[in-house]
Amino acid sequence: MEVYDIIIVGGASAGLTAAIYAARRKLNTLVITKGIGGQELETNNIENYPGFLRISGVELANRIFEQAVKSGAQIILDEVVKVEDTDEKINDKPVYAIKTASGKTYKAKAVILAFGKTPRNLDVPGEKEFVGKGVSYCATCDAPLFKNKVVAVVGGGNSAFEAAHILSQIAKKVYLIHRREQFRAFEYLVERVKKLENVEFVLNTVVKEIKGDITVKSVLVENVQTGETKEIQVDGVFIEIGSYVKTDIVEGFVKIAKNNYIPVDKLCRTYKPDSDEIKPGVFAAGDVTDIPFKQLVVSAGQGCVAALQAYNYLHDLGETIFADWSKSL
Ligand code: NAP
Repeated sequence: MEVYDIIIVGGASAGLTAAIYAARRKLNTLVITKGIGGQELETNNIENYPGFLRISGVELANRIFEQAVKSGAQIILDEVVKVEDTDEKINDKPVYAIKTASGKTYKAKAVILAFGKTPRNLDVPGEKEFVGKGVSYCATCDAPLFKNKVVAVVGGGNSAFEAAHILSQIAKKVYLIHRREQFRAFEYLVERVKKLENVEFVLNTVVKEIKGDITVKSVLVENVQTGETKEIQVDGVFIEIGSYVKTDIVEGFVKIAKNNYIPVDKLCRTYKPDSDEIKPGVFAAGDVTDIPFKQLVVSAGQGCVAALQAYNYLHDLGETIFADWSKSL
């Protein structure tokens, strides 16, 4: 079986940036990913990625993908179900195995974990039942289905505010339901949404149930301060309450922090499970890591760091940091 120099798990900004850098260093690079792009696909207007005053998440993801392919990375669309140690070694370096949902196993001398986060569920009655029948986790994808309809957006972070903004341009009315009065979203996003006449804030409120027949018809909400409940008639519910790292695929393989992120050092190196010892040849980048800033540009930056350090590792530069600049420049 072919042993790749490097396998990157995940094909969004972190993984594909790592692929660009790895392939340009002539590493035999494979990306295994469920799809191209990550959470940026849910954003229509990215206004904070350097070089673009405004770009849609889909277009940015496609551009990075194209660049990774042109750089020489191989991309396979499949879901990784397990990343494991093996007994094999090449030049004293461990070989790792990556297993996929289609039953295949791939091997590599270095691995970059860049599989991002998974949308969080509300876990209320009706949520699962009405997925695709009014319940959505992606405003950019599904907003056009709610032309002149009434929708609710649940959450108080950037995603919820971006969803409310997108939906306000298509739906007749948008309720923004948030469990507190303060928002996590950036001030400029909050100000933008506050100015929209068809967005109504329903604060200090949680969703207790999503009701309907064939499709969603209403949400049952409760005011957390007064205990009062009421039903709001809506045609759709957009759940935008953040996401979490689904670390089951690397359990027992690398160290996972209590908050479920994968701790990395400044070179994006991971640690052995329950240890402070570096896991040789295994790196992580982007939203899966414990870096607190979950921004596209940060993910791309970490992807670059992980790939360059993987190159150093594979070229026997040991633990020395081989900087890509010199004082003479
Ligand atoms: P987030 O920042 O974690 O916000 C999640 C929101 O959902 C919070 O307001 C939270 O309430 C609420 N929430 C969580 N669990 C809940 C539950 N069970 N029931 C009701 N409400 C719940 O998630 P996000 O908005 O998806 O953003 C994720 C990351 O991506 C952030 O770092 C964000 O900055 C980044 N992002 C950036 C941009 C941009 O730069 N334009 C756009 C989108 C996302 P509490 O506040 O009460 O905890």
